[in-house]
Amino acid sequence: MLRVVVLGAAAGGGVPQWNCGCRVCQAARTERPELQSTQASLAISADQHHWFLINASPDLRQQLIATPQLHPAKGQLRHSPIAGVILTNGEIDAFAGLLSMREGSPFTIYAHAKVLETLKSNSVFNVLSEKNVKRQSIEIDQPFEPALVDGSRCGIEILPFAVTGKSAWYLEAEPRAEDAAGDTLGLRITDKATGKYFFFLAACARVTDDLRSRIEGAPLVFFDGTVWRDDELIAAGLSHKTGQAMGHIAMSGERGAIAALKDLGIGKKVFLHVNNSNPAWLPDSEERKAAEKAGWQVPKDGTEIEL
Ligand SMILES: [Zn+2]
Repeated sequence: MLRVVVLGAAAGGGVPQWNCGCRVCQAARTERPELQSTQASLAISADQHHWFLINASPDLRQQLIATPQLHPAKGQLRHSPIAGVILTNGEIDAFAGLLSMREGSPFTIYAHAKVLETLKSNSVFNVLSEKNVKRQSIEIDQPFEPALVDGSRCGIEILPFAVTGKSAWYLEAEPRAEDAAGDTLGLRITDKATGKYFFFLAACARVTDDLRSRIEGAPLVFFDGTVWRDDELIAAGLSHKTGQAMGHIAMSGERGAIAALKDLGIGKKVFLHVNNSNPAWLPDSEERKAAEKAGWQVPKDGTEIEL
């Protein structure tokens, strides 16, 4: 059985974001602490004993404390059930949490060569000695089965594929094509024993026909929920960037995620990477009601799903 724990569902900054006074952040800080959410990451396991993280957010330490499945085994002085971390892009909110995993336990980082290069070129990540923390490059459209710490198979097959997105903002000055392959990966994650699978698409700028046919009929899809509407950050006076300019599709609108994934026969649709500006965080908002009516969920930290 494939088990998935949503460690966090928020976009960069989390809810509340340290320097943000928007409606959602204010509420989360004061009368509605239940709105607080950590930055997007999943934990997955096929056997309930060995786990892999999909991205390691800056909130990882807090997420690990809150998730008993990821605690050291009873009676062991040094142990972690986490056998590896799969990175889907080079954004800070996807990999800064690696720095909280620096106390010498062995695990493997799986990422596209571009992301591994980013880690390598930042000497602070040398704190994860390659003697203990292996780095394995993953290729687009090449399925792989992450290994457990003893080298045995984990029972989960992961297929990375390219999705329309953009490179990390701190690399934007580099001359790269907007859709540069490898900058943003989607994942198809399959339990080898049962054949059950789900998709992880926490960043996606556009739903192409190819993507629609890929995810059609999937039992579960986690999908980019950064903004409700494309100009949301501009309208709220928070930024000059649209969702598209940041490489993220909106939830609403003719070309938004809700419309694009409608009628695809997907079993469960869950938004991930939801920015704190997004009114869909508020359970009583029109936007949240519309999303739920269309069959979408905005998950709380710790939400567990079995496949
Ligand atoms: Zn905010």
